[in-house]
Amino acid sequence: MIKPDATSKGYTGAILDQMIKAGFTVKAMKWTKLTTEQAGLFYDIHRERPFFGELVEFMSSGPIVAAILEKDNAVEDFRKLIGATNPAQAEEGTIRKNFAASIGENAVHGSDSNENAVIEGDFFFSKLERF
Ligand code: ATP
Ligand code: MG
Repeated sequence: MIKPDATSKGYTGAILDQMIKAGFTVKAMKWTKLTTEQAGLFYDIHRERPFFGELVEFMSSGPIVAAILEKDNAVEDFRKLIGATNPAQAEEGTIRKNFAASIGENAVHGSDSNENAVIEGDFFFSKLERF
């Protein structure tokens, strides 16, 4: 997912370009905006964390791009491509180093396991929206 900070700053195209150049294939994609309730469901695992309210407010504050991306070893390679959660700790050349402002507003989301990638893909896309 490309998060609201990055879409509002006009980074969508540059981020997608970096993902595609890194070898990811787009299987599904949409431009949409989450309600606070939808953002809360998407990040349900963080519901008890102190930053949950801030996270849900931020994630529903503007449009996002949701996508299903395909590649061998996709979860691990995508997390390497996006870099550390806190952009101050992200490696040079990573998407968060290039485009993120802070730990809260960190430009992109990546699934953390194959299992969650399936759940998150199903959250955004029907079978008719995947090619
Ligand atoms: P994401 O799930 O968005 O890809 P991540 O897996 O790198 O990020 P998580 O630990 O899953 O990190 O946290 C989810 C999101 O919650 C982070 O991307 C960030 O936007 C927000 N977040 C995490 N820790 C903090 C914090 N200490 N303060 C504010 N926001 C935070
Ligand atoms: Mg995460």
